[in-house]
Amino acid sequence: MRDETKCIHSGYSPKNTEPKQVPIVQSTTYVFDSTEDVGDVFDDPTKALIYSRFANPTVMAVEKKIAELEGGVGALCTASGQAASLISILNLCKAGDSFISTTQIYGGTFNLFAVSLKNLGIECIFVDCDADEETINRAFKPNTKAVFGETIANPALSVFDIEKFATIAHAHGVPLIVDNTFATPILCKPIAFGADIVVHSTSKYMDGHAVQVGGVIVDSGRFDWANGKFPDFTEPDESYHGISYVNDYSEAPYIIKARMQLMRDYGAYPSANSAFLLNLGLETLAVRMERYCSNAIQVAKYFEASDKIEKVSYPGLERDKYYPLTQKYLKGASGVISIIIKGGKENAVKFMDSLKLATIEVHVADIRTCVLHPASATHRQLTEEQLVAAGINPGMIRFSVGLESIEDIIEDIEQSLSAI
Ligand SMILES: *Cc1c(COP(=O)(O)O)cnc(C)c1O
Repeated sequence: MRDETKCIHSGYSPKNTEPKQVPIVQSTTYVFDSTEDVGDVFDDPTKALIYSRFANPTVMAVEKKIAELEGGVGALCTASGQAASLISILNLCKAGDSFISTTQIYGGTFNLFAVSLKNLGIECIFVDCDADEETINRAFKPNTKAVFGETIANPALSVFDIEKFATIAHAHGVPLIVDNTFATPILCKPIAFGADIVVHSTSKYMDGHAVQVGGVIVDSGRFDWANGKFPDFTEPDESYHGISYVNDYSEAPYIIKARMQLMRDYGAYPSANSAFLLNLGLETLAVRMERYCSNAIQVAKYFEASDKIEKVSYPGLERDKYYPLTQKYLKGASGVISIIIKGGKENAVKFMDSLKLATIEVHVADIRTCVLHPASATHRQLTEEQLVAAGINPGMIRFSVGLESIEDIIEDIEQSLSAI
């Protein structure tokens, strides 16, 4: 099946007289005929359902669909994108370990890596996404267990050189994790370029309608966990009566370990109802991504031609620094644009407040066009001087192009820019 078809048909195939749409199995638990049956499932928890803290039929239908879209062997949904990033790392690192991440990542992920994981004794070593091979190689330590980057970074809008980082990670015997939230598997399949694990915030384009917060981790099934660096995958798991993930679940040891060990213990699994809503979003993902890209390139070109705009960043623009990587890795540059309005914060605020169609939201990748002015929202505690020092231009706006008529979106921008 091609992507458009997978979006609609993967993950759930109803049989004779069964419901056409994925049923919402809103049940915490499942029944067994005998004590022996329960014992069998505890011997091999992949055999049947036990408890909805780590497995549920509605959620699993969505997991299967996303795994197929990404070209992976298995997936695990999580209660948020943050939980997906957290579990993707905790499945590999424990106190005393380190991993490498590019600095160009989502702000929430940055806090998680730089502060919360550090508090757990896991060190994140940051490198620039444009760093040369030698600099990246120098960042590795003997205890480094993974490399992490974002396909299209939120909000930097840099494009991650997946093949380069995958080659370097593999030379050091560790996997590459890619946050593919902004691209979605419709625009980029990181596994095809060498990524071993893919994570998403499904709250963004995958959902698309701003109705559920969620995340997902996808396992490529390709990494060699028996290379000596990952004893937790080869040695018996004492918390699971001696299971060895590599020996007992050789097809997808990473995702089985994440579900059976970490999801069982941390319990960040989404509800069936949330998975149902996510699935509705996924059904139209391929069609929506195409339109996000075609609307966004027209908006980016409109901004580029305006004398009221100082700078436009959009990796789909030919003169954008990341355009060559966009051509290599992406079928489209997604729907998020960053602009710097001439005249600093005052004009940025005037522009934002004059918009009539686009709404002000602390969100991106919605079906509705939405905007955010970091200087007066996420970074509002900073003075103008501090903003510049932090790399946040006071006139910068993150513009998330929606699926309204392109004429209406541009007319709204036009009338709003004329207010400046
Ligand atoms: C939003 C976002 C996250 C975090 O996801 P939540 O679902 O909000 O927890 C992670 N990565 C990227 C790229 C994001 O945009």
